[in-house]
Amino acid sequence: MDHIKDGWFTESCTLWPGQAMSLQVEEVLYHKKSKFQDVMVFKSKTYGNVLVLDGVIQCTERDEFAYQEMIANLPLCSHPCPKKVLIIGGGDGGVLREVVKHPLVESAVLCEIDEDVINVSKKFLPGMAKGFFSPKLTLHIGDGFEFMKQNQDAFDIIITDSSDPVGPAESLFKESYYQLMKAALRSGGIICSQGECQWLHLELIKEMQTFCKTLFPVVDYAYSTIPTYPSGQIGFMLCSKNPETNFREPVKALSKEEKESMSLKYYNPEIHKASFVLPEFARKVLSEA
Ligand code: SAM
Repeated sequence: MDHIKDGWFTESCTLWPGQAMSLQVEEVLYHKKSKFQDVMVFKSKTYGNVLVLDGVIQCTERDEFAYQEMIANLPLCSHPCPKKVLIIGGGDGGVLREVVKHPLVESAVLCEIDEDVINVSKKFLPGMAKGFFSPKLTLHIGDGFEFMKQNQDAFDIIITDSSDPVGPAESLFKESYYQLMKAALRSGGIICSQGECQWLHLELIKEMQTFCKTLFPVVDYAYSTIPTYPSGQIGFMLCSKNPETNFREPVKALSKEEKESMSLKYYNPEIHKASFVLPEFARKVLSEA
């Protein structure tokens, strides 16, 4: 089932019942089942090439930067010296591309469960997959949950750029995974995880925030606007082992030169601060004890 009818791809999923997003298709470039999921790439009419896993849009060439730049720079610019970074998932390479741009990052480890996603991204999403050619990278193919168990006191930043909590990524939304990430962080370490959507998953976000608060002294939630994700938004759960961390004030203001060399198209210090300001329906739920 490729979700394509009359020249349109339609994303429908039980995680967002009663609504669907459609993109006009020019050509299906790849479509095969991997060991873990159904992998498809199609050339869209107006959003460039689009990566779809199990019928869910992962990224499009036109708007991916709105997610990749924020999930990378919200944690990186909240840490005084983010030398060692771990990315779980991120098989399209976009988050990795943003992480290795950051001037203070010395090494990045990426652990992706499905090598087919990496190979397909290198072929059809070269603007994102260029991250895989960085000399800072150590690549690991495997399950992020299992990989986390093998690491203690190892990373300044852990970014979980996973698909949704069904299929291979289900374990990455559980408290046990956050306990493992806490142990894998160095002192003062920060995590940032793909945090679903406040319009669709406020209960799940509240649940995650609640167990995060039992594990970390500082927990906060931000979001980005992105046309091709459900309801046009995606959130980020941020946690810090450092009680002094204030996610709402970038600790590392990028210089003009750094910003230019990073050629950012979405992230800037103002939107960093603004991204934590939530609409009242969400603020109310997430601020309750
Ligand atoms: N930006 C997208 C989003 O917000 O939904 C995610 C993009 S990226 C393609 C998601 C990646 O997570 C996929 O490549 C998938 O194979 C990977 N993934 C899912 N479960 C995983 C696991 N348990 N360990 C490592 N990688 C996993």
